[in-house]
Amino acid sequence: MKLSIKTITKSEKIIMFKLPELPYAFDALEPYIDARTMEIHYTGHHAAYVKNLNEALNDYPKLQEKSLTDLLSDLNALPEKVRTSVRNNAGGDYNHTFFWPLMTKNALPGPLEKSAQAINKTFGSFQQFQKHFNDAAKSRFGSGWAWLVVNKQGNLEVTSTANQDCPLSQEQIPVLGLDVWEHAYYLKYQNKRVDYIQAWWHVVNWEQVEDNFRTI
Ligand code: MN
Repeated sequence: MKLSIKTITKSEKIIMFKLPELPYAFDALEPYIDARTMEIHYTGHHAAYVKNLNEALNDYPKLQEKSLTDLLSDLNALPEKVRTSVRNNAGGDYNHTFFWPLMTKNALPGPLEKSAQAINKTFGSFQQFQKHFNDAAKSRFGSGWAWLVVNKQGNLEVTSTANQDCPLSQEQIPVLGLDVWEHAYYLKYQNKRVDYIQAWWHVVNWEQVEDNFRTI
């Protein structure tokens, strides 16, 4: 996410955090996620979080060198002046960077190996897990995210966060996440968030979930 370009002159434009590449074409997840939504979500919303983060850290060269993970894992360590902006925009950058590879047009029907075992152990079955996750996604009032995380006790847990708050800021490591901001679904699904959630299960990248789980 970071380039090693350093400033040479004050007038030189420095790129600190950079929009990561989308791992597929805008229309790859049709019909479940429509191309126009993907395009606006990525080039509009995600890009804005990156731009706003860079602007917020303009006068903080030491913070510019940190990773998104470091910034988000200890928000209290940040200067008060930039704390909210980092929370929202580093959160927005991290969450979306985490989210894109969690979707694929070649989705498998469910979780693999270690993540499947852990899900079954924690929730009883994949269906029970889906029910918990759907409830978290549906009941998040306003804008936010539903998550499957590993909590600080080392157990899987379904949670949700408001706005662009990131599980990392709550000592939780995300394994799976779903963006339930209206900008993620409104063009195709309007007010029907439940239909979007149901459609999204068709494109979940369980290989990525397995990778996320194994690297914790
Ligand atoms: Mn979003």
